[in-house]
Amino acid sequence: MRKQIAAANWKMNLSQNEAETLLDQILATEHHLSGNQEAIFAVPAIYIPLAVQKLSGKNNVFVAAQNCHQKTSGAYTGEIAASMYASAGVHHIVLGHSERREYFAESDALLAEKTDAVLAIGSTPIFCCGEPLSIREAGTQNSFVEAQLKNSLFHLSADQIVKVVIAYEPIWAIGTGKTATSDQAQEIHAYIRSVFATKYGASIADQISILYGGSVKASNAKEIFSQPDVDGGLVGGASLIATEFAAIINALK
Ligand code: PEP
Repeated sequence: MRKQIAAANWKMNLSQNEAETLLDQILATEHHLSGNQEAIFAVPAIYIPLAVQKLSGKNNVFVAAQNCHQKTSGAYTGEIAASMYASAGVHHIVLGHSERREYFAESDALLAEKTDAVLAIGSTPIFCCGEPLSIREAGTQNSFVEAQLKNSLFHLSADQIVKVVIAYEPIWAIGTGKTATSDQAQEIHAYIRSVFATKYGASIADQISILYGGSVKASNAKEIFSQPDVDGGLVGGASLIATEFAAIINALK
């Protein structure tokens, strides 16, 4: 059974006090995680010790990093290696968020290296892909996303690819309040799964969790997550509100 995941992406938000309050509020708000369900909190790196401490001992709840460097160590001032996160108790790393692709010029080739670095230490990449509005309007989103996946992930073995979580995030829906309809989400998630099936076989593709991201909130999560190829969500804005994120966790199937 594929994992169903509600992943919070706090981005560059909140003071330390606000981060602590939000974690306390989420823990105090009723939410349920069954065996195949996970909640993941991608917090700013500086709040990782706080989040790891607050969430320790909670079943199926994990802290994630929002990025990592592709090298294992060295003279890369200001950067953090995947192994450093692991040593601090963080074994999930978001890679290739559209904001990193756009503002930090992260290429498919660089993201292939970062994916390798995360897998090499036994951690889980949450690999983001997704098209801009112009591509969606041209109707070429499938081939655009397919190229992102091929360029960054197709060098992986079948054993490795099942350890990657995919987050499909149409850029036109991120932070805009516009959400893909559940049919649009299902259509491209099924396509992404078919791309993996062609490369690795149907049973491998069937094991890969594919999250949807783009203005997911409490009011639309259930419908989006109910689609057969949608295995939860990567959530920005709504993950900063405890009641919203708890409801999104409860919308997992
Ligand atoms: C995101 O940052 O990954 C995201 C999906 O943001 P939002 O939910 O705010 O659209």
